[in-house]
Amino acid sequence: MHSKSFNAFEMAQAQFDRVADLLDLDQGTRDLLRNPLREYHFSIPVHMDDGSFKVFRGFRVQHNDSRGPGKGGIRFHPAETVDTVRALAMWMTWKCAVVEIPLGGSKGGVICDPHHLSAREQEQICRGWVRQVARNVGPYWDVPAPDVMTSAQHMLWMLDEFEIIEGRKSPGFITGKPVGMGGSLGRKEATGYGVVYTLREALKELNLKPENTQASVQGFGNVAQYAIELYQHIGGNVVCVSCWDQTDKTSYSYRKKSGINLQELMGITDRFGGINKARAKELGYEVLPGDAWIEQDVDILIPSAIENQITKDNVNKISKRVRVIAEGANGPTTPDADKVLHERGVFVIPDFLANAGGVTCSYFEQVQSNMNYFWERDDVLSRLDVKMTSAFIGVSELARQRKLYMRDAAYVISVSRVAQACHERGWV
Ligand code: NAD
Repeated sequence: MHSKSFNAFEMAQAQFDRVADLLDLDQGTRDLLRNPLREYHFSIPVHMDDGSFKVFRGFRVQHNDSRGPGKGGIRFHPAETVDTVRALAMWMTWKCAVVEIPLGGSKGGVICDPHHLSAREQEQICRGWVRQVARNVGPYWDVPAPDVMTSAQHMLWMLDEFEIIEGRKSPGFITGKPVGMGGSLGRKEATGYGVVYTLREALKELNLKPENTQASVQGFGNVAQYAIELYQHIGGNVVCVSCWDQTDKTSYSYRKKSGINLQELMGITDRFGGINKARAKELGYEVLPGDAWIEQDVDILIPSAIENQITKDNVNKISKRVRVIAEGANGPTTPDADKVLHERGVFVIPDFLANAGGVTCSYFEQVQSNMNYFWERDDVLSRLDVKMTSAFIGVSELARQRKLYMRDAAYVISVSRVAQACHERGWV
């Protein structure tokens, strides 16, 4: 998933410490916010299709729930670590606070590779995960959701297991459910579209017209595909995408200088966001090394794959033309690379603001599930646009007024809101 020296939690704590200094936070609040409130580590035994038993490690980390029930996805990944889950739980706290939804930050994970698991084995992992934490999660305490390599189907298995344990229907337990089974229209588009709502506002601030811009995107999964769809819809041109190749166990970039054809590429992409290399070549795409996406001569970079992708080793390969980086992924930029981007004056839309569309729509899903009344897709997406745009404007105004880097401004807003909730509850 990333180099051995990289630790996402250390990075999240370093980012927090910097803001704690900016805000001159007292020691008690720092101690409370730089670590999770609670975490659960457990084993999930699974009876495999070949008759053997295999034990998978699972986690749930609840970073802070002072502003409302915890919220955060469950990732299935062979290189998952508890520190990655801790970092992501912390980022969820800041994410919910920056878009001002009444939720806290959690995250979960299972060390496993769904590429090599049958549907039945994956169902067992989902049900086993719920059995281990059912007492510590729930609609009024901590609400899971899909994330990397987990889907609406996984969420439905988890909901079903939770309802069996609880002995009652409880649709608010989990979000990202299939539409028609308590899911919200617009959820699959929400994160990618949210990235582009904030990107659109950033371009306005920089007096750039989307139709005069080009972008390069890392990743070709849920976030990337919908970000590309909306960016192209507002006139932008994506010239390069990159993704992981499961067969070769490496990543490749796919470039078409005239601009990629989204539907064509989606037609040759598997459900994990992996593009078929041979078919892409036939369709006229140049197949380049995995990190070529970062070197493209474009105005906008949209890292939407995994963490730790813009580092001190490659940050100087970014073209001088790049004006905006919209972080679709969580934690794509390391602090040392971030410093370089800041010095260069690149307009960075930080991850927990740019990709907050997913959790905002999950919040809408909970609201709809609780009312048992579901909104039209356009209604969901226009409410999402309002939330994302107003969060972006709040952050960029603070950045301008206090001459702060966008990431610092977003952190100042989020950490202040969470610290205030902790103080008001009498926690510190
Ligand atoms: P996904 O599994 O649908 O897609 C991930 C994509 O990244 C795939 O195309 C994969 O091939 C590619 N990828 C993986 N490793 C790569 C590498 N080393 N180099 C290049 N490409 C690589 O995942 P997603 O849901 O699109 O999530 C992407 C990122 O966005 C993650 O960081 C996730 O935590 C974050 N995020 C997702 C959501 C959401 O709603 N899906 C919300 C907020 C944040």
